[in-house]
Amino acid sequence: MYRTHTCGELRLADAGKEVTLAGWVQRVRDKGSLVWIDLRDRYGITQLFLDGNSDPKLIEQARTFGREFVIQAKGTVIERESKNPNMPTGDIELKVNAFILLNGSKTPPFTIEDVSDGGDDLRMKYRYLDIRRNPVRKNLELRHRMAMLVRNYLSNLNFLEIETPMLIKSTPEGARDFVVPSRMNPGEFYALPQSPQQYKQLLMVAGMDRYFQIVRCFRDEDLRADRQPEFTQIDCEMSFVEQEDVLNTFEGLAKHLFKEMKGLDFDQFPRMTWHDAMKYYGSDKPDIRFGMKFVELNDVVKGKGFGLFDNADLVVGINADGCSEYTRKQLDALTEFVKRPQVGAGGMVYIKYNTDGTFKSSVDKFYSPEDLKVIAEEFGAKPGDLMLILCGEAMKTRVQLNALRLEMGNQLGLRNPDVYAPLWVIDFPLLEWDEETQRYYAMHHPFTAPKPEDEALLDDPTKWGDIRANAYDIVMNGVEVGGGSIRIHDRTLQNKMFHTLGFTDEKAQEQFGFLMGAFEYGAPPHAGLAFGFDRLCSLFGGADSIRDFIAFPKNNAGRDVMSGSPAPIAQEQLDELQIALNLK
Ligand code: ASP
Repeated sequence: MYRTHTCGELRLADAGKEVTLAGWVQRVRDKGSLVWIDLRDRYGITQLFLDGNSDPKLIEQARTFGREFVIQAKGTVIERESKNPNMPTGDIELKVNAFILLNGSKTPPFTIEDVSDGGDDLRMKYRYLDIRRNPVRKNLELRHRMAMLVRNYLSNLNFLEIETPMLIKSTPEGARDFVVPSRMNPGEFYALPQSPQQYKQLLMVAGMDRYFQIVRCFRDEDLRADRQPEFTQIDCEMSFVEQEDVLNTFEGLAKHLFKEMKGLDFDQFPRMTWHDAMKYYGSDKPDIRFGMKFVELNDVVKGKGFGLFDNADLVVGINADGCSEYTRKQLDALTEFVKRPQVGAGGMVYIKYNTDGTFKSSVDKFYSPEDLKVIAEEFGAKPGDLMLILCGEAMKTRVQLNALRLEMGNQLGLRNPDVYAPLWVIDFPLLEWDEETQRYYAMHHPFTAPKPEDEALLDDPTKWGDIRANAYDIVMNGVEVGGGSIRIHDRTLQNKMFHTLGFTDEKAQEQFGFLMGAFEYGAPPHAGLAFGFDRLCSLFGGADSIRDFIAFPKNNAGRDVMSGSPAPIAQEQLDELQIALNLK
């Protein structure tokens, strides 16, 4: 038997027991006749102990153990003289009477302790050592607990977990596919799924009624911070449901996770239309942990001779409570912030509502104190507040103000990761105009149903931008954690949708023929959604990065620095696939 107990298990009540432990040497402290070893495994650390009464050979042997050696230690559990209240095993230690060396180790390239001296790259290269560290291990444990909770919750609601293929047909909508050449069918390729969307809809046609899958998805997108080319979704689909049923079911799942993971209870999650989210927060994923709702000012600022405002499509601002004492330097920094290329504003106007009731603004030349008072009233501002205003083309300005609002939220400590503010954003637009290709794209995907009351607008191309979809996102703390829609289950409507998206009948048939064919055999009304599982884990783990919750993630350049992928393949492999490289 390699061990009788784990390294996290022994307590004072075990004193006197003869036990065997096995694990990794985290540290050896050698004080001459006294030697301590911290022995670690996944469950914790137990202190091993040798003293003057121990066999000198044992002490000699202990001195040969380096960091990360794998050893077995037999001995007696004894009460510690100086206890460590910070460790669950801190009341005891193991007085060793035999060691067995199970394996040696090179000196690890960084310290395997809670706070490591290893940089990001090094830790990724030796991820198997990084995972031995508590914080990383705990993240993976959290991920496991979340997955179990999700599975049990959905299974109890009659959802079946069904696997769908990983080698599928490439579809041009959405992001870029990762493709896999088929050796047996030269010149032909599979794609790795961006999501099991069409398969889960087929499962509804197949009568499975309620499906879910914790599933790997692949998207060959340019990597932005915190995107992974492969990631995991909790993918779900239901038959015979309306939007209300879907929102309630998955709100239930989210509440269950909050309760079990965090001990938090929630009332019904608030809901906001996409239109309001954009108008009041400049984002389709507003962080509603704090206020600072946008206030539109066109009516009160125009016509006072300030050209920038007079000519702007939209003048809009936020009111920062109690910030009238912001210094010149702080205001300049905010102006610099909005002028950064990532934000892209031309400048920023401020109005201080001083605590003595006077005003000081960057536009005093154009606005009298009475004018400023009117603006302040529009904001609902009070003495001591600071109003920050941007102007320009409406949508662009809203997005810029969103960046400023979030920055102010950060500066004022209003974005506490321990506070959770879930939100449904509903009524997304069905279609999104793309300037570059001069055509409409499905904002969610081509299977998303328009709102029945907006369906007629599909007949009028000038109205396509106004059509609302039965599509919804679940947002937490400004992060989109999931999204889905009611699907089109009617063949005629689906055809119309394909035409709207610029597909000819032939093209639609070629791309989606199998789904459309299935819809001719009695597709039930159905709907679904998918959560981003990695992101959900990072949110519950109170961390920003999804990488921390993936055992073997890729780096920001899409590389696995540990295994060295992607990598060239041998000429023989290329030959077998009948692929000739044409590298530019
Ligand atoms: N397949 C969709 C996605 O990946 C989610 C859904 O509509 O269920 O975003």
